Amino acid sequence: MSAQYVYAFGGSKADGAADMKNLLGGKGANLAEMSNLGIPVPAGFTITTEMCSVYYKMNRQYPPELDQQIRQAMTKVEQIMGAGFGDRDNPLLVSVRSGARVSMPGMMDTVLNLGLNKETVNGLIAKSGNERFGWDSYRRLVQMYGDVVLGLKPESKEEEDPFEVVLNEKKKARGVALDTDLTADDLKELVEEFKALIKKRMGVEFPEDPWQQLWGAIEAVFGSWNGARAIKYRQLNGIPGDWGTAVNVQAMVYGNMGEDSGTGVAFTRDPATGRKIFYGEYLLNAQGEDVVSGIRTPQPVNKGTQSSADQQTLQDIMPVAYKTLEDIYLKLEKHYRDMQDIEFTIQQGKLWMLQTRMGKRTAAAAVKIAVDMVSEGLIDKRTAVSRIEPAQLDQLLHPTFDPKAEKKVIAKGLPASPGAASGRVVFHSDDAEEWAARGEKIILVRIETSPEDIGGMSVAQGILTAFGGMTSHAAVVARGMGKCCVAGCGAIAINYKNKLFAVNDLTVKEGDWISLDGSAGEVMLGQVPTVVPDLSGDFNKLMEWADGIRKIGVRTNADTPNDSQVAVNFGAEGIGLTRTEHMFFEGDRIKAMREMILADDVEGRKKALAKILPYQKDDFYGIFKVMDGRPVTIRLLDPPLHEFLPHEDENQAEMAREMGVPVEKIKAKVDSLHEFNPMLGHRGCRLGTTYPEISEMQARAIFEAACELKKKENMDSHPEVMVPLVGTVGEFTDQKAVIDKAAEAVFSEHGFKIEYMVGTMIEIPRACLVADKIAEQAEFFSFGTNDLTQMGFGYSRDDAGKFLHEYVIKGILPEDPFQVLDQEGIGQLVEMGIQRGRSTRPNLKVGICGEHGGEPNSVEFCHRAGMNYVSCSPYRVPIARLAAAHAVIKEQGKVEQKDV
Ligand code: PEP
Ligand code: MG
Repeated sequence: MSAQYVYAFGGSKADGAADMKNLLGGKGANLAEMSNLGIPVPAGFTITTEMCSVYYKMNRQYPPELDQQIRQAMTKVEQIMGAGFGDRDNPLLVSVRSGARVSMPGMMDTVLNLGLNKETVNGLIAKSGNERFGWDSYRRLVQMYGDVVLGLKPESKEEEDPFEVVLNEKKKARGVALDTDLTADDLKELVEEFKALIKKRMGVEFPEDPWQQLWGAIEAVFGSWNGARAIKYRQLNGIPGDWGTAVNVQAMVYGNMGEDSGTGVAFTRDPATGRKIFYGEYLLNAQGEDVVSGIRTPQPVNKGTQSSADQQTLQDIMPVAYKTLEDIYLKLEKHYRDMQDIEFTIQQGKLWMLQTRMGKRTAAAAVKIAVDMVSEGLIDKRTAVSRIEPAQLDQLLHPTFDPKAEKKVIAKGLPASPGAASGRVVFHSDDAEEWAARGEKIILVRIETSPEDIGGMSVAQGILTAFGGMTSHAAVVARGMGKCCVAGCGAIAINYKNKLFAVNDLTVKEGDWISLDGSAGEVMLGQVPTVVPDLSGDFNKLMEWADGIRKIGVRTNADTPNDSQVAVNFGAEGIGLTRTEHMFFEGDRIKAMREMILADDVEGRKKALAKILPYQKDDFYGIFKVMDGRPVTIRLLDPPLHEFLPHEDENQAEMAREMGVPVEKIKAKVDSLHEFNPMLGHRGCRLGTTYPEISEMQARAIFEAACELKKKENMDSHPEVMVPLVGTVGEFTDQKAVIDKAAEAVFSEHGFKIEYMVGTMIEIPRACLVADKIAEQAEFFSFGTNDLTQMGFGYSRDDAGKFLHEYVIKGILPEDPFQVLDQEGIGQLVEMGIQRGRSTRPNLKVGICGEHGGEPNSVEFCHRAGMNYVSCSPYRVPIARLAAAHAVIKEQGKVEQKDV
């Protein structure tokens, strides 16, 4: 038997089901599931994602059995819907939509009304009793088909949609303002004018044969899988190119058949806040695309919080259809046990469901919905934890606008996606990408967005649109990306050509700063200051559940008491890295540091170091106090000394003046410290080995701070002194001796001891190879995966930005290895280091303090590799806690989660 490429649905049954998403795509699988649940779904069929792969393998050809399978499925649809495809008296019309495993806004979306031609249009008119409707449907088909399938699009950014130009001319000629004011005859003329336009611009005839139309649309869907936009979207979202898309062919139902018809989209809970309210928008007498395209601003479905008194809700106008919709959404949410995003159409009073899928939501909504669903008994805690993407938490952890700050609100739109964003105004997506690549913060301002804007949206701090509702493309995509968005801000008049927008009598030009408050829908002039968010309630509950699941500890990288406090508030269990060099730059310290560097002998250096000691001690005292007995890993000086000296003539002269030394002496020192490869030069423990007095001072500062904290405030501390950049065991023992000696001296001065450990960074590949020997001496390892990646790959961490981006685009590397740990290569070094280290010291404490310690995939790797903890920047602590819980859940097996 040949493979099944076509799966039918409709009439309360289906060949497929929700768990066949890989084969049927998200949309197809859910249409099948809804049919199986007895929910009214217009009949149709899904051509599988497998067919998409076969199509490409066969060099854009189809296997012969496909035609027959499609014809059989079409016959079923004809029977259920009681109409015939191409039947001139009683025509069945269909829509064709793409549908990958995950929703992909970069792909071909929809062609409606397939099956209409010069003859069937009369059948449609007779059936509907509405001539205008018939010609309008035909006009829409020619327009959509011309655009999506035949590729008649504007040739430049400036050019308007050519079909819209013709349409506008017609309206002008007739002296009317709205499409709906055009008559049947006008529309009939438009059909011919559109066809002529297609012939002229594309050199092809619009196909009148319904089957030819259908095959053209199928081809366009499969073709769009490898279109530039889809490829870009896949790259941004890590979607494999071989998944393919399914094609959904479905009987048309009409929301534009008069005032008893309509169409809408809804979320079963509020996607911005997570509140348990049915939240949706609809348009009377309209087709589905009108709601999301933002051309007309839709009305709320019910009297929830979104509606205001003067708006006519669906509940008021069509109470029966609304009641059915309510029953269906409750059934769907209960069935899928998750918040759904649904699309519906009402044709002459009868409700049809066109789609259901897991609704995209903000991080705040995701947390609230997950926690609420646990209390409602719909899901368990483990599922709740698994539903929140760790990276998504970023949205919650980042600052919001300072309520006390002065704000100049220039306009208000819809609060489409929460957050606070400031940036410079840019009007075009490719400009946005260009500006962002130069490091500019930008706000993308569009009349409305389309899938073509994905690239620009992804690099923007925030998005502002003049048109569109809460479910417009901009709103949905921004929420998915976790970006702040203000949509439907009608007060701004955008002029793309002159790159400016006007609001009242104010003009905002490209490059001007604005700020967006995505929770209030406010647009403000300039940069508004921000404050740290207040996290409590549901967030803490969810994090506690995550903590109950995770096995790996989470520490933070912090160099100040303030950062340490932020991290503790976010749940840090210790400090995994204090970079002491950061403490040398502030105020008078840099002077003493420079004095030390300029000193000609040990005595001179010691004198200068004695000045630094009290500062260092104060810093450590403050950190130990905040950490209140939690372990604190302090790393000895790491960067090359030239980093502390000025390199510009002007600054060198100033330093000479301040220190009372000839400028030549400074220049000579800078020259002598010059290195060809400073990252591989005189840094890390190599400094401590040549200048042991530096390590000695630092160790003394650590132990004195610990002893004084005990004495003055009776507080414990657990210092873990860490030697950087060790590559041989000799380097480590050399430094350990200095540290231990300083400890002994301090303890005997104070008359009591503090428990401490001495360990090392593992960040040089050789250290991984000889980890067994190092672990005989070192009490802990902390993987410095920034340097380990640098030295393992041989990519300079300061220069790799120039080519890594290209590497990722070309697929040479899956991601930037400085952001996501390269498990395949560098990961082996880490695993080897742990395994060899524990071969000589079985209870060796192991952590990571490179940037990867807060990156969810890398955290999962660290869990699997058997580390004791990860350490990351304070704002990433909750992300790491959640990622660590996800690692355990993944290891234990599949979670009960139906729709991903
Ligand atoms: C590392 O190399 O991973 C590390 C944490 O140290 P630094 O980034 O300070 O070199
Ligand atoms: Mg390092």
